[in-house]
Amino acid sequence: MQKDVNLIQELVDLDKKHFIHPTSPIKQQQEQGAALIFTEGKGVYLYDVNGDCFIDAMSSLWNVNVGHGRKELGKAAMDQMNKLAFNSCFSTFSNEPAIRLSAKLAQIAPPGLSATFFTSGGSESNDTAYKLVRHYWILKGKPSKKKIISRTKSYHGVAMGATSATGLKPFRDFTNSLAPDFYHVDNFSSQALRELIEAEGSHTIAAFVAEPVQGAGGVHIAPENYFKEVREICNEFEILFITDEVITGFGRTGKYFGIEHYGVTPDVMCFAKGVSSGYLPLGGIILSEKIHQDLIELSTGTLLHGYTYSGHATACAVGLKNIEIIENENLIENARVMGQEMLTGFQWLQNNLGIVGDVRGLGLMGAIEIVKDQVTQERFESPLSPLIVVEAAKRGVICRAIVFDNQDTLVFAPPLIIDKTEIEKMMSIL
Ligand code: PLP
Repeated sequence: MQKDVNLIQELVDLDKKHFIHPTSPIKQQQEQGAALIFTEGKGVYLYDVNGDCFIDAMSSLWNVNVGHGRKELGKAAMDQMNKLAFNSCFSTFSNEPAIRLSAKLAQIAPPGLSATFFTSGGSESNDTAYKLVRHYWILKGKPSKKKIISRTKSYHGVAMGATSATGLKPFRDFTNSLAPDFYHVDNFSSQALRELIEAEGSHTIAAFVAEPVQGAGGVHIAPENYFKEVREICNEFEILFITDEVITGFGRTGKYFGIEHYGVTPDVMCFAKGVSSGYLPLGGIILSEKIHQDLIELSTGTLLHGYTYSGHATACAVGLKNIEIIENENLIENARVMGQEMLTGFQWLQNNLGIVGDVRGLGLMGAIEIVKDQVTQERFESPLSPLIVVEAAKRGVICRAIVFDNQDTLVFAPPLIIDKTEIEKMMSIL
């Protein structure tokens, strides 16, 4: 690609002056300008204004599951837009893509989950789940059941409810007043959950929410029996179990949904990201048939929760086509097999580089911990992973550093279409 120096400078200047980046080092952006301005994507690769090529080892934000540049998705969007881009789904209005996508989700979701409420992303999905479970308990005549419990290393998004549920403290400390009635328990201790429920009283608790594999918290995988115990505790105390599958859904972990690894079914499931592979903003929650039926039977008026874009026709058409690609190209199985390759690569790094501590992965979600001492797992005084991210990008791999909670961790989530050669290329650069 011909490099247009003037164009690049113009973009950098405009970016500094007018574009407030999400979750960004705002001062650094002003001082150094945008690090990478992307222009194109194809498969697992991203290209920038300089014509440089990068392996997108994060699927951008854990979401571009079918890879970049899929013309089928562009066509699905264009066809739907040319027919009916959008209509309101408030009240009793509907459209075919939203109907068909909700039916498809009922078919692929864990058994018993059957009815979808659409949103535009993961944060809205979490807020929707928290509001609807509370509304459910009001209808059931138990309005005191309103507390939401989540876990200490969790990330559930940035809407007010989603931030309040997020366990990672820096996100909650960013603002000075959050939603009330959110509680956090130790990350993988089902006993801690039981103790909190007993201390607060189950008559005050609406739901427990957890990511099947924690993503933004540093790719933490629950012990084998954890979710079984959680499910039993929720049943025992009449507390609804919500899984946040915003990252782990749509094949990312080598199964359709992350919770399937644990053999339990939630009452409510949040999803976003991989449902449309990021080609258009889309998310939602899927309710169990029982909760859905109870809402219908007990409701006395209007369900007063809805986004303008709930059931967006074009986003849903893209979601349907995206799921078709995931199924036709066997991408869930590819995520499982390539996930093993990625983990083997991490283990090779662990055996050959003196600074790799714990490595972990489930499907195409993985992490490498950086340590000063492999025996004691002692960390560097100042985390090394942010520097590695910069150096990896210079050499053509985009990954992410997690430094919350004194971690020094690199995380990876390449597109589910990745092949063995591309994994090897990624490892050799690392
Ligand atoms: N829940 C989880 C588990 C996430 O990882 C994220 C985003 O990364 C969210 C919710 C928030 O989703 P969004 O950024 O689409 O609002």
